[in-house]
Amino acid sequence: MISVAIDGPAGAGKSTLSRKVAAELGFIYVDTGALYRAVGLKFIDKGANTELNVDIDSILAETKVDIRFCEGEQRVFLDGEDVSDKIRTPEVSMMASAVSAKPAVRAYLLEMQRKLARENNVIMDGRDIGTVVLPNATVKIFLTASAEDRSRRRYEELILKNQNVTYKEVYDDMVKRDYNDSHRDIAPLKPAEDSVIADTTGFEFQESLELLLSIIREKAEI
Ligand code: C5P
Repeated sequence: MISVAIDGPAGAGKSTLSRKVAAELGFIYVDTGALYRAVGLKFIDKGANTELNVDIDSILAETKVDIRFCEGEQRVFLDGEDVSDKIRTPEVSMMASAVSAKPAVRAYLLEMQRKLARENNVIMDGRDIGTVVLPNATVKIFLTASAEDRSRRRYEELILKNQNVTYKEVYDDMVKRDYNDSHRDIAPLKPAEDSVIADTTGFEFQESLELLLSIIREKAEI
């Protein structure tokens, strides 16, 4: 099986690009952020705030997160409910970032991710795919862009979905999440030693897509 690990900060275009790359290569695309978002949503439903002063283990013990593929498209289920759309709010983003710093949460989601890569050719995106989840991935890419570029793209995406946000809010959230994700003790966001860094600051979508495809084709010899 071929596995492509794509890591990088929020808003680098990982999911949009990975989805396209997967379609192009006939691989499945696994968005691991959606798993952390589903767990984050559960904690919100349980009345937790981002300080997480709740009993994490007992909430996880009654949480069921599941991924299914409908016509090649990943859907995420929380306790049997399809929450794929509900998890795309700034509130859930922030909670996902908070729960993802907890070792129990990372351990809870680890095997599911590895199993998907054992059984399928995958493009998997996240923060620790090349470093922790799939240390033997065929290709590892660290996809990044400036915080301004990433905020602008994320802002435009949210506005298209009719979310009521300002650019400043998105930018401030982005900087805060970058900090949380790269300063946590467990699985911090950092490029794997053997990853290729792809910086798409100032790139159009098509240019970024071509860059990723050429890195993957060369490294995986496909
Ligand atoms: O990629 P996305 O923005 O959907 O991820 C939501 C949050 O989940 C991130 O801010 C990050 O804290 C966490 N995450 C993670 N490890 C992954 C994927 C996401 O810690 N592999």
